[in-house]
Amino acid sequence: MKSIKQLSYETICAREWKIKDQFGSHILPLYQSNSFEAETMEDAIEVFSGKAEGYIYSRYANPTIKALEEKLAYLEGLDSGQKCYSLLTSSGMSAISTVCNSILKPGGSMVIHPSLYGGTLEYFNSELARLGHPILQIDLREPANLKKIVEASSKKPDLIFIETPTNPGLEILDIGAISGFASSLGIPLIVDNTFCTSYLQRPLELGADIVVYSTTKFINGHGNSMGGLIVSANEELIKKQLWKTMKLTGSNPSPFEAWMIYQGLKSLPLRMMKQCNNAQRIADYLDKKKPLVRKVNYPGLATHPSYSLAKSQMKLPGSMVSFELDANLAQTIEFCNSLDYSKAPTLGDIDTLILHPATSSHINVPKELRLKTGVSDSLIRLSVGIEDPDDLILSLEVAFSSVF
Ligand code: PLP
Repeated sequence: MKSIKQLSYETICAREWKIKDQFGSHILPLYQSNSFEAETMEDAIEVFSGKAEGYIYSRYANPTIKALEEKLAYLEGLDSGQKCYSLLTSSGMSAISTVCNSILKPGGSMVIHPSLYGGTLEYFNSELARLGHPILQIDLREPANLKKIVEASSKKPDLIFIETPTNPGLEILDIGAISGFASSLGIPLIVDNTFCTSYLQRPLELGADIVVYSTTKFINGHGNSMGGLIVSANEELIKKQLWKTMKLTGSNPSPFEAWMIYQGLKSLPLRMMKQCNNAQRIADYLDKKKPLVRKVNYPGLATHPSYSLAKSQMKLPGSMVSFELDANLAQTIEFCNSLDYSKAPTLGDIDTLILHPATSSHINVPKELRLKTGVSDSLIRLSVGIEDPDDLILSLEVAFSSVF
């Protein structure tokens, strides 16, 4: 029999994760219990004091959550053979805030590439700035800017945070080059890999120190759970430092959410492949709609400024597409209304979702910063699903003919 180490990503996703219970359950049981009873007080003390591993209280650890953490960590290190460790949290935002809470020193600053999910940007610029953490914005499309600007500043930042592809501009950042500069400066690099998942891109293999995810999106894929994930090859960092912050700030997930995410993960590769193919079809279609469409942002288009870089660091170009209409705000809203896609403000589900970033995810981002990062009033973002692409394109045809 093949050992689990030799199996592929698809096979590991589809199969159960080394679970054995007293009934021989085929599917991971949902341990919906907030605490676990020890045989004796001495046994409980062993776990509380950290001398023995075990389950005692679900904010600390839970078997359903642990199975998902182990499976996702294993997938992150697949192929490279790197042993990875992970922590599941209650949402993508809590994964990001747990990392920042844990790593930032009092008054410590951080570097960001400013094109980020609006909620992340708002958290950095309002909450972290309020607590006295300066946020240094550096255009990391040119990785050498990192070294130049950090070396010129008076204090070394505590961390660097990026997303690639960025949300919603679909810019591609060179993880390998940025991590090279980051490690030479001795600053940890954190990458939000939500748009890709480890199926399409593995930032740790490219030199990043920590990867974060909103599992609410592609990893679960069915729009029926919230969750976040932190992954690193640094065992001490995950199991001691970040775990402690999660435990004490209560950013832990619920077992039920973990169980839902675990079920969704099984079909991730299948969904991703179909979604990427559909996204390429739509991006090609939109590209031909110029000049009604001013710009299409999709890393799978040869006209994308980082087409070759995307090809080298991503397995496929992803299923997120954004485009700018040659239209004003009212016409853009009318265009969105004319499409039969879901207007749910999320991404990564199996059905196609439309979002108008300027009035939703980026509504609280100052207009000047929003425009600087390409989030104009006429920008539309699609999270392309698994439907028949002909149906998706027909709907776009209807929207174009009703607005233009
Ligand atoms: N990171 C990215 C790239 C996102 O798009 C989002 C949400 O849309 C988040 C993080 C936050 O995730 P959650 O809504 O699960 O907190």
